[in-house]
Amino acid sequence: MKKYTGKSVYKGIAMGPLLVMKKNDDLVKRSRIEDTEAEIARVSEAIEVSQGQLQRLYDKALKEVGEANAAIFEVHQMMLEDDDYLEAVYNMIRTQMVNAEYAVAVTGDNFSEMFANMDDEYMKARAADVKDISNRLIRSLSGSQDVDLTAAGPSVIVADDLSPSETVQMDKSKILAFVTIHGSTNSHTAILARMMNIPALVGVPLDLEELSSGMIAVVDGFQSEVIFDPAEEIKVETEKKIKEAQEKQNLLQTLKGKENCTLDGKRIDIFANIGSAADVGYVLENDAGGIGLFRSEFLYLGRNDFPSEEEQFNAYRQVLQNMAGRKVVIRTLDIGADKQVDYFNLGKEDNPAMGYRAIRICLTQTDIFKTQLRALFRAAVYGNLSVMYPMITTVEEVQKIHEIAEEVCRELDEHQIPYKMPEQGIMIETPAAVMISDELAPIVDFFSIGTNDLTQYTLAIDRQNERLDAFYNPHHKAILRMIRMVADNAHAAGKWVGICGELGADVALTGEFLRMGVDELSVAPSMVLKVRQRVREIRVEE
Ligand code: PEP
Ligand code: MG
Repeated sequence: MKKYTGKSVYKGIAMGPLLVMKKNDDLVKRSRIEDTEAEIARVSEAIEVSQGQLQRLYDKALKEVGEANAAIFEVHQMMLEDDDYLEAVYNMIRTQMVNAEYAVAVTGDNFSEMFANMDDEYMKARAADVKDISNRLIRSLSGSQDVDLTAAGPSVIVADDLSPSETVQMDKSKILAFVTIHGSTNSHTAILARMMNIPALVGVPLDLEELSSGMIAVVDGFQSEVIFDPAEEIKVETEKKIKEAQEKQNLLQTLKGKENCTLDGKRIDIFANIGSAADVGYVLENDAGGIGLFRSEFLYLGRNDFPSEEEQFNAYRQVLQNMAGRKVVIRTLDIGADKQVDYFNLGKEDNPAMGYRAIRICLTQTDIFKTQLRALFRAAVYGNLSVMYPMITTVEEVQKIHEIAEEVCRELDEHQIPYKMPEQGIMIETPAAVMISDELAPIVDFFSIGTNDLTQYTLAIDRQNERLDAFYNPHHKAILRMIRMVADNAHAAGKWVGICGELGADVALTGEFLRMGVDELSVAPSMVLKVRQRVREIRVEE
């Protein structure tokens, strides 16, 4: 039995078998080999294993998302048989006498770079596929687990770190808990865990080599600890705690259908944050009044090419229809920083959080932006849509966005395609936007305060840097004063203001937000009823 403590991201408790995921970087070490033919035979075996995985993925995708979307796994199967690629791997093993993992990694990088430099957009997009199949091959060569959980039962995932795109690809029904060695509590992976109601610990100082898949683990998000190979009495105690947590959860369920109203009659909207159309289930289950933040960029993650207008339109329409008239705020693409997507070819940046991201990409690559706006405006016909734009710093950006939005409407009119112009708001997540919120308020329909980035930029603390978690203080007076200032400026212009960053779910501040006149809190679906409970205990006048 071994116990470790870490930082809790979601307070829940779970027990089950481990699935240990090792990063490719750890698996790829250059080493000299003597028997080159034996090394080549290892590659052949790994190809066979990878082909089996791809076939299973294809079959699953075919059933769940249809033939067009499943086709990518067929393409990967074909690429794994490509003579040029395999010849390059074999040549390297033979001429440089290196291990298979290293030869596959280097060949994968070379081929991927070659594709990325091609002029043809389709071929460019294949760069990510080559990387993908090379990574799969490396995992098969080292006998490590595939990210795909199709073959595994419900498991506790243990990894060095998880990127948002890895997390978003996982089959959520198979995840009991997450435990990672690295990762900050403010990262998007942490946010995803919170959204999925999955107990999660980050920053746990463990050694992956000491763990093996199948070992039993207890993850206790309340105590911020994980126990591997627990003694019998711990297992019994954990079963009891899981039952108690379930009972507390059941108690919260009694608040469903009740109003978000304080003891002295002040109301507030409590909405939910989601990352995909499939998450609407969590929203309805937890009785949220609407969706205050749909992080649309998750549609772009974990895939090899841009989602088409049609694909986006279908996802947005599905969410709007399922929400049946309740407000749905969809944020336009916020890619960049920690949300990296190979096919965007964003290039390496020294400081990605302060780099080429979000609206900066949309305003410079307007074809990507217009495709998304077309899909959104067309979907608006099917429900109560609001669109919001991330990472705003100037009035000119908003004016430029409005020009592009109007252009999209004109084009839709010309082609007689049905659409509706939705309410358009902006996120307030830079100190610049806060300071000019008096000028921004009259030209938008609403503000939604993104406290995650606002804290990062105000306190000059990288939200991804786990060493700074102790300094990342969203209760800092500067942040609270900024929220008040934004709320006052929104109301002076007759606009509504919400909070969609993680701070919105912090029940220690619910009273203060109510007193500031915040109109809406958008929180992880799992937090909706807890925040409602808190609202109902408060007397604003006090
Ligand atoms: C925020 O910055 O607070 C926010 C809601 O956006 P994200 O966490 O996706 O950056
Ligand atoms: Mg943000």
